[in-house]
Amino acid sequence: MINVFQPSLGEEEAQAVGRVFASNWVGRGKLTDDFEQAFAGHCGVARGHIRSVSCATEGLFQAMTLLGIGSGDEVVLPTLSFVGAGNAVASSGARPVFCDVDYRTLNATAETIAARLTPRTRAVVVLHYGGVPCDLAPIMDLLAAAGIALIEDSACSVASTYRGRACGTWGEVGVWSFDAMKILVTGDGGMLYCRRPEDSERLERLLYLGMEQTSGFAQRNKDRWWQFEVKEFGRRAIMNDIASAIGLEQLRKLPGFVARRRAVHDMYDRELGDLAWLALPPALPADATSSYYFYWVQTTASLRDRLARHLRSQEIYTTFRYYPLHQVSGYGSDIRLPAAEAAAETTLCLPIHQALSDDDVARVVAAIRALDA
Ligand SMILES: *Cc1c(COP(=O)(O)O)cnc(C)c1O
Repeated sequence: MINVFQPSLGEEEAQAVGRVFASNWVGRGKLTDDFEQAFAGHCGVARGHIRSVSCATEGLFQAMTLLGIGSGDEVVLPTLSFVGAGNAVASSGARPVFCDVDYRTLNATAETIAARLTPRTRAVVVLHYGGVPCDLAPIMDLLAAAGIALIEDSACSVASTYRGRACGTWGEVGVWSFDAMKILVTGDGGMLYCRRPEDSERLERLLYLGMEQTSGFAQRNKDRWWQFEVKEFGRRAIMNDIASAIGLEQLRKLPGFVARRRAVHDMYDRELGDLAWLALPPALPADATSSYYFYWVQTTASLRDRLARHLRSQEIYTTFRYYPLHQVSGYGSDIRLPAAEAAAETTLCLPIHQALSDDDVARVVAAIRALDA
């Protein structure tokens, strides 16, 4: 069986978790602080902008709170978004307004976003499909001119850069995910970026019950250290030192993971490039780097479904990310978004992860080439 995505957790992570067990402190502690610091360094931002979070979906929910988004507001997001992004908008009371994507990159563009802006638009949530950055400069110009906040769902783009700067650090708020299907995996977990220091400070409370920093109240209540203050009614959405110990090891391995994924990507490009019936992912823009999270191919609708079934019969698992949210009835959208609708019928994500051997990739290639297309 060849998985479409797969984590690479090894001896180093097991030993790091063993050390956490031995320390007898498995909650949020020094390792989580260390992980936040290391991740800030990885993104090239000051440590205070970065907060760890229980998962990226929670981070998107928190983004709505931080930006004060709610009833009467609209938030634009590409219809090919992770369902958690749509849920974060809808549950805030705002209306999710879905925009189209470029058929080839599957990213939102300044044009597809502009088509859906109204005077009620408060924010735009973009993701970087498969790890390839959106063309952010024209999007930033559009939003700056209209006074609309950018939220970056950087779950696909843990190691991607646009014009030399990390994806996830371009907008007001950015989120990354470390769930079981991502590149850097901690089981569950994530990071949040906030541009404004006051948002980052508020976030620290929102992620832990709305409580004032514990060191502060310990000092104020020397004799009754069980007393506390609550500023806002926060949830509890923190990472712990077990996950962070794994994350620190994974972060060290991340450049190697991305290099291997790139090698897999390049093998597919070389070995499938001559198939007239199959379009490969477009070339990476010159001013961008990718995390190589997805490798997606496009063909006709009937061939896409046949290819998926044929590969599954050979124990090769594929998928399509992300099912268009405007076609999910729960969101109550009746818009037509032609490029996304076409892409959802004709696009297939092939196996790509750092544990794939050259032989595995050759097996996928041979299976694709054997399809009577
Ligand atoms: C996985 C994913 C998320 C959600 O991450 P969790 O940590 O599982 O909540 C959000 N957005 C995108 C694009 C994703 O791929």
